[in-house]
Amino acid sequence: MLDCGTGARRLGFKLIGGKNRELDLLFSHFHMDHVFGFPFFIPIYSPGYKVRITVPAFSVDEAREKIARYLNGVYHPTRVRELPADVEWNAIRPNKTFQAGQFTARGVQLNHPGGSVGYRLEVDGQSMAYITDTAPFARPGEGVEAGEPPTKAEERIIEFLQGCDLVVYDTMYDLGEYLEKMTWGHSYPEYAHAVCRAAGVKTLVLFHHLPEADDDALDALEAKWSTATEPRVVLAREGESLDVRG
Ligand SMILES: [Zn+2]
Ligand SMILES: [Zn+2]
Repeated sequence: MLDCGTGARRLGFKLIGGKNRELDLLFSHFHMDHVFGFPFFIPIYSPGYKVRITVPAFSVDEAREKIARYLNGVYHPTRVRELPADVEWNAIRPNKTFQAGQFTARGVQLNHPGGSVGYRLEVDGQSMAYITDTAPFARPGEGVEAGEPPTKAEERIIEFLQGCDLVVYDTMYDLGEYLEKMTWGHSYPEYAHAVCRAAGVKTLVLFHHLPEADDDALDALEAKWSTATEPRVVLAREGESLDVRG
Protein backbone atom coordinates (compact mmCIF):
# COMPACT_ATOMS: atom_id res chain seq x y z
CA MET A 1 0.00 0.00 0.00
CA LEU A 2 1.40 3.36 -1.07
CA ASP A 3 0.35 6.38 1.01
CA CYS A 4 -2.86 6.78 2.93
CA GLY A 5 -5.23 9.32 1.38
CA THR A 6 -9.00 9.32 1.74
CA GLY A 7 -9.23 6.07 -0.28
CA ALA A 8 -7.67 4.27 2.69
CA ARG A 9 -11.05 4.04 4.41
CA ARG A 10 -12.72 1.95 1.71
CA LEU A 11 -9.58 -0.09 1.09
CA GLY A 12 -9.28 -0.83 4.81
CA PHE A 13 -12.77 -2.32 4.98
CA LYS A 14 -12.05 -4.39 1.88
CA LEU A 15 -8.78 -5.73 3.31
CA ILE A 16 -10.21 -6.55 6.71
CA GLY A 17 -12.83 -8.75 5.03
CA GLY A 18 -10.11 -10.86 3.39
CA LYS A 19 -7.97 -13.71 4.75
CA ASN A 20 -4.66 -11.85 4.72
CA ARG A 21 -3.62 -10.41 8.09
CA GLU A 22 -0.54 -8.43 7.17
CA LEU A 23 0.41 -5.56 4.91
CA ASP A 24 3.16 -3.11 4.09
CA LEU A 25 2.36 0.59 3.97
CA LEU A 26 4.96 2.90 2.38
CA PHE A 27 4.73 6.67 2.82
CA SER A 28 6.07 9.08 0.19
CA HIS A 29 5.87 12.14 2.47
CA PHE A 30 3.54 13.65 5.08
CA HIS A 31 1.47 16.28 3.34
CA MET A 32 -2.13 15.95 4.50
CA ASP A 33 -3.50 14.47 1.26
CA HIS A 34 -1.13 11.49 1.76
CA VAL A 35 -1.77 10.80 5.47
CA PHE A 36 -5.35 11.95 5.95
CA GLY A 37 -6.81 8.44 5.64
CA PHE A 38 -4.44 6.79 8.12
CA PRO A 39 -6.60 7.20 11.27
CA PHE A 40 -9.57 5.86 9.26
CA PHE A 41 -7.71 2.79 7.93
CA ILE A 42 -9.44 0.01 9.84
CA PRO A 43 -6.62 -2.64 9.86
CA ILE A 44 -4.66 -0.49 12.35
CA TYR A 45 -7.45 -1.12 14.89
CA SER A 46 -7.50 -4.89 14.35
CA PRO A 47 -5.59 -6.85 17.05
CA GLY A 48 -3.19 -9.32 15.45
CA TYR A 49 -3.16 -7.52 12.09
CA LYS A 50 0.50 -6.95 11.16
CA VAL A 51 1.01 -3.47 9.67
CA ARG A 52 4.59 -2.72 8.62
CA ILE A 53 4.94 1.01 8.03
CA THR A 54 7.88 2.31 6.00
CA VAL A 55 8.78 5.96 6.22
CA PRO A 56 11.58 8.03 4.68
CA ALA A 57 13.46 8.90 7.90
CA PHE A 58 16.85 8.61 9.56
CA SER A 59 15.68 6.39 12.43
CA VAL A 60 12.76 4.24 13.55
CA ASP A 61 11.96 6.81 16.27
CA GLU A 62 11.80 9.59 13.67
CA ALA A 63 9.63 7.38 11.44
CA ARG A 64 7.11 6.79 14.24
CA GLU A 65 7.21 10.44 15.30
CA LYS A 66 6.18 11.61 11.83
CA ILE A 67 2.80 9.86 12.23
CA ALA A 68 2.62 10.29 16.02
CA ARG A 69 2.48 14.07 15.55
CA TYR A 70 -0.76 13.57 13.63
CA LEU A 71 -2.24 10.83 15.86
CA ASN A 72 -1.51 12.60 19.13
CA GLY A 73 -4.93 12.95 20.74
CA VAL A 74 -5.49 16.44 19.28
CA TYR A 75 -6.19 15.85 15.58
CA HIS A 76 -7.64 12.40 16.27
CA PRO A 77 -8.58 10.72 19.58
CA THR A 78 -6.33 7.69 18.99
CA ARG A 79 -2.61 7.92 19.75
CA VAL A 80 -0.06 5.92 17.79
CA ARG A 81 1.14 4.01 20.88
CA GLU A 82 -2.46 2.84 21.53
CA LEU A 83 -3.04 1.26 18.11
CA PRO A 84 -4.38 -2.29 18.61
CA ALA A 85 -2.73 -3.72 15.48
CA ASP A 86 0.77 -5.16 15.52
CA VAL A 87 2.48 -2.09 14.05
CA GLU A 88 6.13 -2.20 12.99
CA TRP A 89 8.02 0.94 11.94
CA ASN A 90 10.79 1.02 9.36
CA ALA A 91 12.97 3.96 8.36
CA ILE A 92 14.42 3.96 4.85
CA ARG A 93 16.76 6.23 2.90
CA PRO A 94 16.37 6.75 -0.85
CA ASN A 95 18.48 4.62 -3.23
CA LYS A 96 18.86 1.73 -0.76
CA THR A 97 17.07 -1.49 -1.69
CA PHE A 98 14.84 -3.01 0.99
CA GLN A 99 12.23 -5.74 1.30
CA ALA A 100 8.53 -4.86 1.69
CA GLY A 101 6.70 -8.16 2.12
CA GLN A 102 7.09 -10.08 -1.14
CA PHE A 103 8.35 -6.97 -2.96
CA THR A 104 11.89 -5.81 -3.48
CA ALA A 105 11.63 -2.05 -3.07
CA ARG A 106 13.77 1.02 -3.62
CA GLY A 107 13.09 4.70 -2.99
CA VAL A 108 14.12 7.77 -4.99
CA GLN A 109 14.18 11.41 -3.89
CA LEU A 110 11.66 13.52 -5.82
CA ASN A 111 11.35 17.26 -6.50
CA HIS A 112 8.75 18.53 -4.02
CA PRO A 113 8.63 21.21 -1.29
CA GLY A 114 9.70 19.50 1.95
CA GLY A 115 10.74 16.39 0.00
CA SER A 116 8.95 13.31 -1.25
CA VAL A 117 10.13 9.78 -2.02
CA GLY A 118 9.02 7.70 -5.00
CA TYR A 119 9.09 3.90 -4.86
CA ARG A 120 9.84 1.09 -7.28
CA LEU A 121 8.47 -2.36 -6.38
CA GLU A 122 9.46 -5.62 -8.05
CA VAL A 123 8.27 -9.20 -7.72
CA ASP A 124 8.54 -12.21 -10.05
CA GLY A 125 10.16 -10.14 -12.80
CA GLN A 126 7.36 -7.55 -12.80
CA SER A 127 7.78 -3.96 -11.69
CA MET A 128 5.78 -0.88 -10.88
CA ALA A 129 6.73 2.55 -9.59
CA TYR A 130 4.88 5.28 -7.71
CA ILE A 131 6.25 8.74 -8.50
CA THR A 132 4.40 11.47 -6.62
CA ASP A 133 4.52 14.26 -5.54
CA THR A 134 7.07 15.78 -7.88
CA ALA A 135 7.77 18.68 -10.20
CA PRO A 136 9.76 18.04 -13.40
CA PHE A 137 13.50 17.39 -13.15
CA ALA A 138 14.35 20.01 -15.79
CA ARG A 139 13.39 23.60 -16.53
CA PRO A 140 11.01 24.31 -19.43
CA GLY A 141 12.94 24.09 -22.69
CA GLU A 142 15.55 21.76 -21.19
CA GLY A 143 15.79 17.99 -20.81
CA VAL A 144 13.94 15.08 -22.38
CA GLU A 145 10.58 16.76 -22.95
CA ALA A 146 12.30 19.47 -25.01
CA GLY A 147 14.11 16.81 -27.06
CA GLU A 148 17.39 17.74 -25.36
CA PRO A 149 19.79 15.41 -23.51
CA PRO A 150 18.51 14.53 -20.01
CA THR A 151 19.59 16.76 -17.13
CA LYS A 152 21.57 15.10 -14.30
CA ALA A 153 18.36 14.83 -12.25
CA GLU A 154 16.54 13.29 -15.20
CA GLU A 155 19.30 10.73 -15.69
CA ARG A 156 18.70 9.63 -12.09
CA ILE A 157 14.92 9.21 -12.44
CA ILE A 158 15.22 7.56 -15.88
CA GLU A 159 17.69 5.03 -14.45
CA PHE A 160 15.31 4.44 -11.53
CA LEU A 161 12.31 3.78 -13.84
CA GLN A 162 14.25 1.82 -16.47
CA GLY A 163 12.09 -0.90 -18.04
CA CYS A 164 9.27 -0.54 -15.51
CA ASP A 165 6.00 -2.27 -16.50
CA LEU A 166 3.76 0.36 -14.94
CA VAL A 167 4.45 3.81 -13.49
CA VAL A 168 1.95 5.88 -11.51
CA TYR A 169 3.10 9.48 -12.00
CA ASP A 170 2.08 12.86 -10.61
CA THR A 171 0.29 14.73 -13.41
CA MET A 172 -1.71 17.20 -11.35
CA TYR A 173 -1.34 20.15 -13.73
CA ASP A 174 -1.47 20.88 -17.41
CA LEU A 175 1.49 22.77 -18.86
CA GLY A 176 -0.15 26.19 -18.36
CA GLU A 177 -0.89 25.51 -14.67
CA TYR A 178 2.61 24.16 -14.17
CA LEU A 179 4.16 27.33 -15.61
CA GLU A 180 2.13 29.36 -13.10
CA LYS A 181 3.02 27.09 -10.15
CA MET A 182 6.49 25.81 -10.91
CA THR A 183 7.55 25.78 -7.24
CA TRP A 184 4.50 23.85 -5.99
CA GLY A 185 6.06 20.48 -6.71
CA HIS A 186 3.73 18.84 -9.24
CA SER A 187 4.08 17.71 -12.83
CA TYR A 188 2.01 17.46 -16.04
CA PRO A 189 1.25 14.61 -18.48
CA GLU A 190 3.58 15.61 -21.35
CA TYR A 191 6.52 15.68 -18.96
CA ALA A 192 5.63 12.35 -17.30
CA HIS A 193 5.25 10.76 -20.74
CA ALA A 194 8.63 12.05 -21.94
CA VAL A 195 10.44 10.72 -18.84
CA CYS A 196 8.65 7.36 -19.00
CA ARG A 197 9.40 7.05 -22.73
CA ALA A 198 13.10 7.69 -22.10
CA ALA A 199 13.02 4.96 -19.41
CA GLY A 200 11.26 2.39 -21.63
CA VAL A 201 8.19 2.24 -19.38
CA LYS A 202 5.25 0.22 -20.78
CA THR A 203 2.25 1.86 -19.07
CA LEU A 204 1.96 5.35 -17.57
CA VAL A 205 -0.88 5.99 -15.12
CA LEU A 206 -1.88 9.66 -14.80
CA PHE A 207 -2.37 10.33 -11.08
CA HIS A 208 -2.84 13.00 -8.38
CA HIS A 209 -5.59 14.67 -10.39
CA LEU A 210 -6.30 18.33 -9.74
CA PRO A 211 -8.88 18.37 -6.90
CA GLU A 212 -11.13 20.76 -8.82
CA ALA A 213 -11.06 18.66 -12.02
CA ASP A 214 -14.57 17.27 -12.54
CA ASP A 215 -15.48 14.07 -14.40
CA ASP A 216 -15.82 15.92 -17.72
CA ALA A 217 -12.33 17.38 -17.38
CA LEU A 218 -10.85 13.97 -16.53
CA ASP A 219 -12.78 12.29 -19.38
CA ALA A 220 -11.29 14.90 -21.74
CA LEU A 221 -7.80 14.22 -20.35
CA GLU A 222 -8.29 10.48 -20.83
CA ALA A 223 -9.52 10.96 -24.41
CA LYS A 224 -6.55 13.19 -25.22
CA TRP A 225 -4.09 10.47 -24.13
CA SER A 226 -6.05 7.41 -25.30
CA THR A 227 -3.95 6.92 -28.45
CA ALA A 228 -0.55 7.52 -26.83
CA THR A 229 2.10 4.84 -27.27
CA GLU A 230 5.52 4.10 -25.74
CA PRO A 231 4.24 4.20 -23.09
CA ARG A 232 0.51 3.76 -23.38
CA VAL A 233 -1.37 6.04 -20.97
CA VAL A 234 -4.28 5.32 -18.64
CA LEU A 235 -6.01 7.49 -16.06
CA ALA A 236 -6.01 6.53 -12.37
CA ARG A 237 -9.50 5.88 -11.00
CA GLU A 238 -10.56 5.35 -7.39
CA GLY A 239 -11.13 1.68 -6.60
CA GLU A 240 -9.70 0.41 -9.89
CA SER A 241 -7.37 -2.58 -10.25
CA LEU A 242 -4.71 -2.57 -12.96
CA ASP A 243 -2.71 -5.54 -14.23
CA VAL A 244 0.95 -4.54 -14.07
CA ARG A 245 1.64 -6.60 -17.20
CA GLY A 246 -0.72 -4.35 -19.22
ZN1 LIG B 1 2.84 16.86 -1.32
ZN1 LIG C 1 -0.04 15.28 -2.78
